[in-house]
Amino acid sequence: MPVYEFRCPACGEITSIVARMSEAGGTCVCAHCGATAERIISRTSVHLSRASKLERLDPKYDRMVDQAMTSTRHAEPDRLLKKMKPLSGDD
Ligand SMILES: [Zn+2]
Repeated sequence: MPVYEFRCPACGEITSIVARMSEAGGTCVCAHCGATAERIISRTSVHLSRASKLERLDPKYDRMVDQAMTSTRHAEPDRLLKKMKPLSGDD
């Protein structure tokens, strides 16, 4: 459910309420002083899946990740291959 924010004209505090879209009105009771607070436009809170987040990334980040991976010694595949031991089973 979305979070709605209301600003109190009396004390200036913001009260946040989680409600269904159909239940959110234009006013609420201020949690700080009890006056009538009016709804304000607030930042939205949307939960995205990891795939959606990756799809929304700017392509410039792909290049940044590629550059970082090629410039670090940890990205060198031979480094890990040299550490590996053959699976002979003799020892
Ligand atoms: Zn208030």
